[in-house]
Amino acid sequence: MDKLEFDYVIVGAGSAGCVLANRLSVDATKTVCLIEGGGSDDSLRVKVPAGILSLYGNPRFDYGYVGVPQAEMNGRRIPVNRGKALGGSSTINSMIYIRGAREDYDEWAALGCKGWGYDDVLPVFRSFERNLIDQDPTYHGFEGELLVDRPRDPNVVARAFVEAGKQAGLPENSDFNAASQYGVGIYNVTQDKGSRFSSHTAFIRPVAGRANLHVLPDTEVVDLDIVGDRATAVNVVRDGIAHKIVARGEIILSAGAIGSPRILLASGLGPAPELAAAGVAVKLNIPGVGKNLRDHIDGMITMRSKSLETLGLSFGNLPAILASPLNYLLRRRGMLTTNYVEAGGFAKTRLSTGLPDIQFHFVPGYRSHRGRLVEYGHGFAVHTCVLRPNSIGELRLTEDGTRRNALIDHRFFTRSEDLDTLVEGIKLARSIFAQPALAELEGTEFLPGRDVRTDDEIRAYLRTEALTVYHPVGTVKMGVDDMAVVDPETLKVRGFPTSASPTPRSCRR
Ligand SMILES: Cc1cc2nc3c(=O)[nH]c(=O)nc-3n(C[C@H](O)[C@H](O)[C@H](O)COP(=O)(O)OP(=O)(O)OC[C@H]3O[C@@H](n4cnc5c(N)ncnc54)[C@H](O)[C@@H]3O)c2cc1C
Repeated sequence: MDKLEFDYVIVGAGSAGCVLANRLSVDATKTVCLIEGGGSDDSLRVKVPAGILSLYGNPRFDYGYVGVPQAEMNGRRIPVNRGKALGGSSTINSMIYIRGAREDYDEWAALGCKGWGYDDVLPVFRSFERNLIDQDPTYHGFEGELLVDRPRDPNVVARAFVEAGKQAGLPENSDFNAASQYGVGIYNVTQDKGSRFSSHTAFIRPVAGRANLHVLPDTEVVDLDIVGDRATAVNVVRDGIAHKIVARGEIILSAGAIGSPRILLASGLGPAPELAAAGVAVKLNIPGVGKNLRDHIDGMITMRSKSLETLGLSFGNLPAILASPLNYLLRRRGMLTTNYVEAGGFAKTRLSTGLPDIQFHFVPGYRSHRGRLVEYGHGFAVHTCVLRPNSIGELRLTEDGTRRNALIDHRFFTRSEDLDTLVEGIKLARSIFAQPALAELEGTEFLPGRDVRTDDEIRAYLRTEALTVYHPVGTVKMGVDDMAVVDPETLKVRGFPTSASPTPRSCRR
């Protein structure tokens, strides 16, 4: 590495980091360094949507963290998948394009995050988006970098799920990013003619030729140099060799809900007693770093079916499987275009206080509960997750002396209302699966299974089988309360000087 000093140093080339690097490098007089711990995303497994099955748990693309044993889940350790490559988690995710609800952003604003209400963020979302399906311009952009499309060749069974949802009393929703999320429908995806369109593809590839933008993959950030009250440099390891990358202007942490707090803690910025216990010199006592971990806890219903219309591996389906590579190459159609969750929706359980409290992700194939990528046979399934969980977890440094590993403790179901909501969600999902629109598939419930009927039985099932549906947030939360880490106005770590910072707001066009 020859050039080690930049105006802006961005840590993490994931969903957020790629956008920031794009916008900050518009100014050709400023140099920008985008550091990424993972490597290239140049792989058919990434580009072909169905390749997603080979990305989870693959150490080339996924950190594959595992949480600590969960007291309310029979001591199970929950996998925490996080993207490790250019594009970050957008390189391994399911490509569904759904923003938060209006009420979520407005709640941020009400809690003191001035400038983060729905009417503030909507123009920014629109500026990023290039909607290919002519949706309402009130909510969608058509000139941004991020391509948003419908699934290229949705499975007929996904459509049947939507019909079944309607038969169960939910409205059809043709745009989950418009006025309301309530209802069932086919999801939008970030794809370009049936090919994954990650944040890296959208925001970095087109500007990779900018002389002032330096992208450093395969480079792990260990910690930050804190001099007085400023972060001045980033300490990295590349090919086993340590380097220092100096920031003349600003260091921007966008290493995700696991990576960002881990780096802050390793740098001595966090809860003082915990840092001291982990043998880290305290630079600034910030009690909220690593706290407030929230995630979407999720339970599944899996069905076995003989229908060859569902995705599956079988002799009967062999001709379609063998034809699929050609179908994809020549027409960009067929089963290889699937993101496996082409349909879904938002519903209200009887415990809802107004907004939808659960989300469905429908899978038109059998999902294995045995940890296998592919199972022989056919079926369909639905994920049901709790949208605004109350259980609060945390992330701490391990005391292994390296400062490079974190303990992830979701504390799932420590608030019983999350488990109660999920029980109600499973019952709603079952009521959808019982509708005539899915009858033709002659599905037989595999899990939870016919014997699991009462609320207590469903609770026991969820403690044994529930997992996260991959959405950890909140560990370096923005806000104005005592546990907030990031100032909503300057986007600087709180406790450091709050002199005007042009960086974050300049990302808004
Ligand atoms: C399997 C899966 C499926 C998902 N499906 C969807 C979906 O369909 N729709 C949706 O909206 N969301 C989905 N999500 C969630 C979504 O992808 C994430 O919320 C989003 O990508 C997070 O963006 P981020 O920029 O915060 O973090 P990330 O995109 O994870 O980026 C963080 C980056 O920082 C890098 N990094 C971390 N630590 C270091 C370090 N020490 N040094 C250098 N680099 C580092 C990482 O390698 C990574 O590239 C899914 C996530 C997963 C894992």
